[in-house]
Amino acid sequence: MLDNLVKLTNLKRDIAEINLDPLQRGGILTPEARAALVEWGDGYSVCDFCAGMLDRIKTPPVEEFVHGMLPEFLGTDEVRITHGAREGKFAAMHALCDKGDWVVMDGNAHYTTVLAAERAGLNIEYVPSSGEPDYAISEEGYAEAIERAYEHKGNVSMAVLTYPDGNYGNLADAKAIADVCHDYGVPLLLNGAYSVGRMPLNARELAADIIVGSGHKSMAASGPVGVLGASEEYARTIFRLSSTKKNKEVELLGCTVRGAPLLTLMASFPAVLERIRHWPDEVEKANSFADGLEKLGLKQLGDRPHRHDLMFFMAENLYQISLGAKKGRYFLYRDLKERGISGIKPGLTRQFKLSTYGLSSEDLKKVLQAFQEIIDSYPAAIG
Ligand SMILES: *Cc1c(COP(=O)(O)O)cnc(C)c1O
Repeated sequence: MLDNLVKLTNLKRDIAEINLDPLQRGGILTPEARAALVEWGDGYSVCDFCAGMLDRIKTPPVEEFVHGMLPEFLGTDEVRITHGAREGKFAAMHALCDKGDWVVMDGNAHYTTVLAAERAGLNIEYVPSSGEPDYAISEEGYAEAIERAYEHKGNVSMAVLTYPDGNYGNLADAKAIADVCHDYGVPLLLNGAYSVGRMPLNARELAADIIVGSGHKSMAASGPVGVLGASEEYARTIFRLSSTKKNKEVELLGCTVRGAPLLTLMASFPAVLERIRHWPDEVEKANSFADGLEKLGLKQLGDRPHRHDLMFFMAENLYQISLGAKKGRYFLYRDLKERGISGIKPGLTRQFKLSTYGLSSEDLKKVLQAFQEIIDSYPAAIG
C-alpha cells in the first residue's frame, strides 16, 4: 500500500454544476470563509494567543463571537463550539442524564440522536409520526411518550425535537412541544442541524432549553464544527469545569475546534445572518420547485405547503422507468449527471430528498427541465 502514495498528493474534486444534496447546500463556504480556511489551515492555528480557554481567545475574536454574538443569535444564555450537532447532543445528554434514564425523541429523529443516546447509556421512547404522507409530529405525542416512559418506571431526563427533521424537512410546533415537556419537568433539546444558519430561529422564543446547530451543514463552515447553546439552568451542568484541570470544561474535553473550521464559521457568520433575512424567498423557491416536480408526476411528502428547503419526493413514474432502463435504478443519477446535476443519491428513483437552498431560480428551472427531458425520453413513464 505504501508504495502508491503519489495518489494522495493531488486530490481533486469533481463536482456537478448544480448540486441538490441537502447535506451540502448550506455548507458552501463564503469567499471570506474560503480565505480563512487557507489562512488558518495549520494545526492548532487558533491557539497562538490562548490563555487556557479556547472560547476566551481575544485574537482572533473568538470570545466575542462565542460569548457575545452566538448567544444573541441562538437566544440562549451560553454557547460553546462543538465539532458538530451530534457532539453537542451527546455532550448535553451525557451531562444532564444518568445512565438508564429515558430520552424522548421524535420518530423522524436523525440517527446521530439515537447514537448519542446510546453512547450516553440512555433508553429511547419515540414519538411516532403520523406516517405517510405528512409524517407529522405532535405535542400530544410527546406527552404520550413521556407517560409511556414513566410506565417503564423510567426517569425521563430529556426530550429532543428534530427541527426540521432530515428526511421530510418538517417543522413541528416546537413551542407547543416545549410547553408539554416543561409540564413534565423535562428539558427540550432542539436539534437545529438543518435550521440554525438557514432560517430565523431563537431558542428562547421557542422555549427550548438546549439547541444544537451544525456549522458544516447550515452555517457555511468547512467543519467539523457546530454550536451548542443552553439556558443558564442547564449550561451550568453541561459546561461545568474540571475539578483538577484549571479552566477546562469536562464535557468538551477542554477544547473543541482548534483551528480552521472555527475560523470559517466566524468568517461566514455575517453572510449567514444576511442570508437568514432572505428565508421567505428560500421557502417560496422550494414550494414553486415542488409544484414544478408535481406537475411532472412526482409527489412531495411532509408539510404542505412546505416550510423548508429540504423536501422529500415520491416518484412512481421514475421507478417505473428504472424497471426497464439501461443501468436500471442508476439511470436517474446518470441522466441528471449528464445534465450537470448531482445530489440525488445514486440508485434512488422511487423516493429521494433534495434541497433547493441557495440555488437561483434559473438553476431550479434547469433542474425541472432536466427532469422533464428525462421523463419524456422514456416512453414507459407515460401514465
Ligand atoms: C446532518 C444532521 C445531523 C448531524 O450533524 P453533524 O453536525 O454532522 O453532527 C444531525 N441531525 C440532523 C437532523 C441532521 O440532518
